[in-house]
Amino acid sequence: MTKFTDLGLAEPLLKALATEGYETPTPIQAQAIPHILQGRDLLGAAQTGTGKTAAFALPMLHRLLANPRRLSPRAVRVLILSPTRELAAQIETSIRAYAQFTTLRSTVIFGGVPVGKQIRALGDKIDILVATPGRLLDLVDQRAVSLREIEFLVLDEADQMLDLGFIHALRRIATLIPKERQTLLFSATMPKPIRDIASAYL
Ligand code: AMP
Repeated sequence: MTKFTDLGLAEPLLKALATEGYETPTPIQAQAIPHILQGRDLLGAAQTGTGKTAAFALPMLHRLLANPRRLSPRAVRVLILSPTRELAAQIETSIRAYAQFTTLRSTVIFGGVPVGKQIRALGDKIDILVATPGRLLDLVDQRAVSLREIEFLVLDEADQMLDLGFIHALRRIATLIPKERQTLLFSATMPKPIRDIASAYL
């Protein structure tokens, strides 16, 4: 059986996995990690509870570490879009755990709470931003964050984002980020609107 140590992940990530007590990749992790490490886009049919977050976060963190970059002020390298604040917060907590032995920094932004603290956090050289779509666009319009240097885009629970009416926000976000990027799209179901989004984004 595949072990995390067989996947070629950077040492600080393996150390974090050992600290978290993970030894064996889940099936989606064993499939997705090598694919994402090769720089390919991914369309994943996966539900929460399958280990999906580590499946996309670990290879992305690996690639960020392998290619250190200096960013313009308020620019981020990774954007992870999530339909709800609970999921966004949960993803960011996981990313912090996996990145705990690196200097990579993350933050999370979502609506329904005051914006000041989020704007200040974005001024702090953030590599990885987890966001809900509406609040993200508010903060882009306030010039609190720039999406012009994005290298990785993750659309998590894309079907739920469409159900919650985020289609226009997603279309606008797509116009703000570079065409040259790696895109990872996850959805529990694959109805036609998701397949359309996937073909537009991937
Ligand atoms: P997710 O589907 O990403 O929400 O992950 C579900 C839960 O499984 C989370 O609590 C993770 O911390 C945990 N988890 C993810 N990958 C592994 C793994 N390979 N071994 C053990 N636990 C894991």
